[in-house]
Amino acid sequence: MSDLVELYQELVLDHNNRPRNKRAMEDASSTADGYNPLCGDQVSVFLKVEDGVIADVSFQGVGCAISQSSASMMTQNVKGKTVEEAEALFEVFHGMVTRDPGAEVDSESLGELEALAGVCAFPNRIKCASLAWHTMAASLNGKQQEQVTTE
Ligand code: ZN
Repeated sequence: MSDLVELYQELVLDHNNRPRNKRAMEDASSTADGYNPLCGDQVSVFLKVEDGVIADVSFQGVGCAISQSSASMMTQNVKGKTVEEAEALFEVFHGMVTRDPGAEVDSESLGELEALAGVCAFPNRIKCASLAWHTMAASLNGKQQEQVTTE
């Protein structure tokens, strides 16, 4: 178990140190800006949706390692999915980070996103981990330029 925890910590640090899809997108079909006032995390999400599929997704932001690595992992995990699949994955992810510590995790659906499962034990960190997902969902729902806060 401790090996697994270590692996997951490495994964989070790796995404923080080498964020994937961290860039602005000039031809995005929608964007949204998210802010977590508890920690000061900021994440902007850019989406290019074509025929109901997320053809491209990127983010920009500043904040703690959890918020930025979660944003990086979010982009990797929703790219190529349909809008419905991305929204469903958000539900599963949100359920994971807000569950009772010790409750089961839907590992099959989550894949490497399970690296953030431990934040459920740290209420202040849940908002860090879910910020990019809330912002992605707001952008999918056409709430362009809307300020998303996790409060
Ligand atoms: Zn944070």
